[in-house]
Amino acid sequence: MDKSFPLTGWSSVAVHAGHEQDPNYAHLVPIYASSTYVFDDAEQGMRRFSGKEEGFIYSRWGNPTMAEAEEKIAALETFGLDMEAKGILHASGMAAISTLMLATLKPGDKIITHFSLYGGTEELVSKILPAFGITAIIADLRDLQKAEDILKADNAIKMMYLETPANPTIQCVDLEELAKLAKQHNIIVACDNTFATPYLQQPFRFGVDYVVHSTTKFLNGHGTAIGGILLGRDVELMKIKITKVHRTLGGNSNAFDAFLLIQGIKTLEVRMERHCHNAMEVAHYLENHTAVAKVNYTGLSSHPDHYIAMKQMRHPGAMLSFELKGGLQAGIDFMNKLKMCVRTVSLGTCDTLLSHPASMTHYSVPKEEKEKYGITDGLIRMNVGIENLQDIISDLNQALTI
Ligand SMILES: *Cc1c(COP(=O)(O)O)cnc(C)c1O
Repeated sequence: MDKSFPLTGWSSVAVHAGHEQDPNYAHLVPIYASSTYVFDDAEQGMRRFSGKEEGFIYSRWGNPTMAEAEEKIAALETFGLDMEAKGILHASGMAAISTLMLATLKPGDKIITHFSLYGGTEELVSKILPAFGITAIIADLRDLQKAEDILKADNAIKMMYLETPANPTIQCVDLEELAKLAKQHNIIVACDNTFATPYLQQPFRFGVDYVVHSTTKFLNGHGTAIGGILLGRDVELMKIKITKVHRTLGGNSNAFDAFLLIQGIKTLEVRMERHCHNAMEVAHYLENHTAVAKVNYTGLSSHPDHYIAMKQMRHPGAMLSFELKGGLQAGIDFMNKLKMCVRTVSLGTCDTLLSHPASMTHYSVPKEEKEKYGITDGLIRMNVGIENLQDIISDLNQALTI
């Protein structure tokens, strides 16, 4: 593509951004399955290592296939905004989050975060980082006054870490107000944008400093690879300090997974439009079903975070949960009857995925603990896929019929 051509639409950027003409004229970026890169002469090696000449050296440090994915996602997270960002692809979402924490925090520093977080992140901040002298204050950040009180009372807080919509509760926090508050207290703000994707929400728009993704989910979109990315608005800091930490920790991605990710991102807009359309219809269907006690979907005005979701997201997303009146046994029976929709955890794939936390992910968690997170015995979590709506509803309908 001629780089002088302005890409004005979202999917044009998703399809073309980051792509370089291949020296052998391959249409798609090849899978660069090479651990090292050669030098023409010793002097070139010197220039590459000293950073005087751009070029690849070693695939833990960077690789042409990975570079295309990094530039594509950075272009999408900054699409329509008057700013740049640099992304670093990682082996997983957790690897990206680990680099973020270890590169920006030091012993004695604290993190303020919302209580509903991805399980792995929750373990990282509550079990692993404390050994390095980094601790977390976990609060309900939907309460802005409380967030402000906590920040005022403790100047050891150096990072606000957000995840919205959050896994697994789909709670949302106010990016604009919280980022404003964080800036008043001169601390960095990071946001896990996995559930929304840059198509539905751009945290940089609200002043967030770092965005992380588990690319394993909607960005890849087909459940074919684990991956993650860390993006930062301070390009120089990303290129030098954060890159150094990333390269040394060794949580790099690989060319094959990056290739799959690139192909997935190209269809993100069309997939998300369909996911979100189906999710809204499924939410309405479930709301009117007599076996269902409650539907949690940010697209419904009954959801407590409906207003915040509408304020900062293009559509309310593909994730919802619902509660069966019959409790644990009803949940098990429903799951066993599904014929097309898939019984599994995770999210972000083309197919509809359903899980029953009480008999699966949270089976061994004590009841009081589960209820604190809103996980009741009859709760079903659903990643609404891109199949034909009528088939999704027919499958749910037959599984809900006693
Ligand atoms: C899955 C997920 C992660 C972790 O990503 P991995 O790629 O599994 O390491 C982090 N945050 C959210 C919101 C997730 O859904």
